[in-house]
Amino acid sequence: MEIVVARSAGFCMGVRRAVGIAREAAAEEQGEVFTNGPLIHNPQALEKLRREGVIPLGDEEAVPPAAVIVRAHGIPPETRDRLQRQATRVVDATCPKVATIQKKIAKYSANGYAVVIAGDADHPEVVGLLGYARGGAHVVSDAAAVAELPPLGKVLLVAQTTQDEEIFEAIRRRVLERFPGAQALSTICQSTHRRQTEVRQMAGEVDAMVVIGGRNSANTCRLAEICRHLGTPAYHVETAEELPLAELRQLSRVGVTAGASTPADVIEQVVERLRDA
Ligand code: SF4
Repeated sequence: MEIVVARSAGFCMGVRRAVGIAREAAAEEQGEVFTNGPLIHNPQALEKLRREGVIPLGDEEAVPPAAVIVRAHGIPPETRDRLQRQATRVVDATCPKVATIQKKIAKYSANGYAVVIAGDADHPEVVGLLGYARGGAHVVSDAAAVAELPPLGKVLLVAQTTQDEEIFEAIRRRVLERFPGAQALSTICQSTHRRQTEVRQMAGEVDAMVVIGGRNSANTCRLAEICRHLGTPAYHVETAEELPLAELRQLSRVGVTAGASTPADVIEQVVERLRDA
């Protein structure tokens, strides 16, 4: 079996930065530091961080008197205010790409724009972005949902940073049809762009794709969806142990990619297991 590994597989800049900031904070505090929710969407990476003293707090959990790290996805301003009141120190690991969108939303919404976000309403990044829209905002997950938006005046459209580029383009067209003059900012980040472009190309050149990453990682799930949409079977696994080796052995060319929060050692273990198959 020939194995082709995507160059873009693994940690993106924002995740690498957040993990580095959390580790540094744990070392400085010489004890446990906390993150408001999982720092990244990968159970294996989280377990490793837990052993280094980086502990995720559940949504309902009280903030302990300790340092709290804001994760790469960012948080709404009111959550930041609450953390600042309750924690001994707030360490900001919001990805700079997400912080830029937060600032844009705040600026446009202060100028009377209604904000439309193309993304998943429940995703922490989108929840954080919504907090920056003064007059509230609307979330659409696909082009069809644009018809359900109420009448709006001036409109700003942005994308969740890990949005599927083709879905965003369809949403953008529909928003511009319905709200001519809308400001549409393509805020999908470069890391997502590279990863999705590469997986689209690879999907046409292999018998199947193995997509490695957390089952709760939106950008990893999207990579698998892109492959399936193109007619290429995609196996989404979190670890090497989950590989369906009996099925994969029947294939002659298998591609491997991974989400933005998948650690390099997990990718190596999967590739090794495939090579030994
Ligand atoms: S996917 Fe992009 S926006 Fe999100 S954390 Fe990574 S670099 Fe930042």
